Amino acid sequence: MTPPIGRPTTGPPVLNPGRLRCDLARRTILEGRSLVKTYRKRNLETPVLKGVDLNIREGEITAIVGKSGSGKSTLLHLLATLDRPDAGEVWYDHQRIDTLSAGRREKIRNRQFGLIFQFYHLLPELTLLENVLIPHMIGGFWSYWTKRSQWTQKAVELLDAVGLKHRLRHKPNQLSGGEMQRAAIARALINDPKMLLADEPTGNLDEENGQDVMRMMMDLCRQHDVTILMVTHDMQIANQADQLITMVDGRIESAL
Ligand code: ADP
Ligand code: MG
Repeated sequence: MTPPIGRPTTGPPVLNPGRLRCDLARRTILEGRSLVKTYRKRNLETPVLKGVDLNIREGEITAIVGKSGSGKSTLLHLLATLDRPDAGEVWYDHQRIDTLSAGRREKIRNRQFGLIFQFYHLLPELTLLENVLIPHMIGGFWSYWTKRSQWTQKAVELLDAVGLKHRLRHKPNQLSGGEMQRAAIARALINDPKMLLADEPTGNLDEENGQDVMRMMMDLCRQHDVTILMVTHDMQIANQADQLITMVDGRIESAL
């Protein structure tokens, strides 16, 4: 059984099995079918996605790379149900999700997906511990209140797992960029998501910090069987993924 996130696991860490893994049995968990998206503002049309098909397989790490403006963030937003396609479909776990009501999409997002963005999105007036607990707080005050000691223990374990146990009471502005992003990873994992969707999580960090953060994120997710879909500009990181998708001008040029 997969241990809950934040609980230290025993045994050696699973190092990158790489794209050579012959595990053809892995099933698709998230899928984009013929996705099309055009932004419209008054009479200005910006076609961004021009028919994108992709399969994310359960338990794998998928990296999306491509030049700035090629549509990577737009694609991630559609897959995370933060926005809707003009045409095409998004499927999660055998269910079409792009056509669900806003409330049901939000529920899937909160329960199944952990989201990480380039600029952390930590609330400045809250401590790190409180920031990590936010997904539980917005999940319902009563359930949060009745289980708060259990959630708090889990948040502490997660912050410990990302090396921040000594910073529980610090506010985000008392931390470095790398520390803030590690806290954002802990927050994204607090609800035991099935998937982590990360948009250039190290885009704001120097190379060394970025690699540390990525390694931590990938190790944690592998330990707990969380599927990763990430956009990154770091080819060294991208090359460690199980699937590498290259986007060019709103289309997938290659998926290896
Ligand atoms: P990437 O993440 O690959 O850099 P994006 O998906 O953010 O690319 O953006 C693709 C294109 O869509 C860019 O040219 C960008 O300017 C445009 N774009 C993104 N968001 C909007 C928006 N809300 N309104 C209009 N154009 C947008
Ligand atoms: Mg982007």
